[in-house]
Amino acid sequence: MACPSPAPLRPKTADTLRARVVHPKHAAALTVCKCQPQTGSMDMKDCIIIGGGPAGLTAALYLARFQRSVTVIDAQQGRAQMIPKTHNLSPFPCGISGRDLLVRMRSHAELYGAEVEHASVFDVKQQGGLFHVKTDRFVETARNIIFATGVINHRPPLSHEDHARGVALGLIRYCPVCDGYEVRDKRIAVLGSGTHGLVEARFIRDFSASVTLIPTEGPVDIAGGGVGLLPSPMKDLSLSDAHVILSLEDGTTAEFDTLYVALGSTARSDLAMRMGADVAQDGCIAVNAKQQTSVECAYAIGDVTEGLDQIAVAMGQGAVASTAIHNTLSATRRRPSETAMTLRVKWP
Ligand SMILES: Cc1cc2nc3c(=O)[nH]c(=O)nc-3n(C[C@H](O)[C@H](O)[C@H](O)COP(=O)(O)OP(=O)(O)OC[C@H]3O[C@@H](n4cnc5c(N)ncnc54)[C@H](O)[C@@H]3O)c2cc1C
Repeated sequence: MACPSPAPLRPKTADTLRARVVHPKHAAALTVCKCQPQTGSMDMKDCIIIGGGPAGLTAALYLARFQRSVTVIDAQQGRAQMIPKTHNLSPFPCGISGRDLLVRMRSHAELYGAEVEHASVFDVKQQGGLFHVKTDRFVETARNIIFATGVINHRPPLSHEDHARGVALGLIRYCPVCDGYEVRDKRIAVLGSGTHGLVEARFIRDFSASVTLIPTEGPVDIAGGGVGLLPSPMKDLSLSDAHVILSLEDGTTAEFDTLYVALGSTARSDLAMRMGADVAQDGCIAVNAKQQTSVECAYAIGDVTEGLDQIAVAMGQGAVASTAIHNTLSATRRRPSETAMTLRVKWP
């Protein structure tokens, strides 16, 4: 049966735009000029979300629908952007690319009044109970902040172009939880060091009898588990249109259908850390059950927190954090109309 393509999003028609304008929150927002100079007047938001991946955009949608003023600031350099096609998101049985998913999520949040800005945040300061967020384009202030900044995967030795082509073709993969199903019974290589590489290789063994671990350092004891080893260390890595080719130090080559990269990742937790938030041993931002960090009114969601790095998890955490923020704002009786005020701030 042919797979129906997802219904197109409702475009922002005059009607939907008018609906936004008549809402008190939007009416207030319209009085604020977006082109203010960096140290000039600006509107204070109920929440600023740093990162517009699945985590940040879900939180933005919820907050906007709670009638809270929210800005997402996103550098558009996330892991979701890299996904050629995800097949484990429940509403998309025929799959959807990461980019298409993000376009839909962004439009959905904007439809309810969330603002999404393309910019990079390079500093966050907390002063007088407010968060001042400095980007390469503007400064913005909010009562609450959410870090949804994700992680950076450590990459294999390939040029940027080859890496992008390899990921797009499914020759280079990062997430067996996500797409192990797609490589059932293929010849799979796992590039990784120490226990991390071995654990990943053993996980993938459930999908294929042909799994070879390429250790990046030292000898590895792979007793049991059915994971193979190459006769000689890897010297070079290249890609054809359909295969991953490894040149070995003994002059031979080995060919695989796909290669999983298990070289670890770095959590983008530096902004939160500089602000005083606790991080776990692996560098992820530490949070409680409501996704709150050790800093009051600062939350963290998605891959940048410890846990299963999945879109569904990131979305769930976005829902939890945004609801906690809304409830806290309600408890302190700060209604949306009161928060969409204009104030003058100076960068601390
Ligand atoms: C190749 C690949 C395939 C995958 N396939 C799947 C799959 O099929 N299913 C699945 O569930 N998961 C999959 N994943 C995992 C999934 O991509 C992540 O779990 C998910 O994207 C996490 O969402 P996030 O919002 O936490 O982070 P991200 O999607 O990484 O988004 C973080 C955003 O924060 C922005 N940011 C960071 N710092 C700043 C800053 N200082 N200023 C402004 N913006 C900033 C980044 O630019 C980025 O846009 C895959 C991952 C990869 C790499």
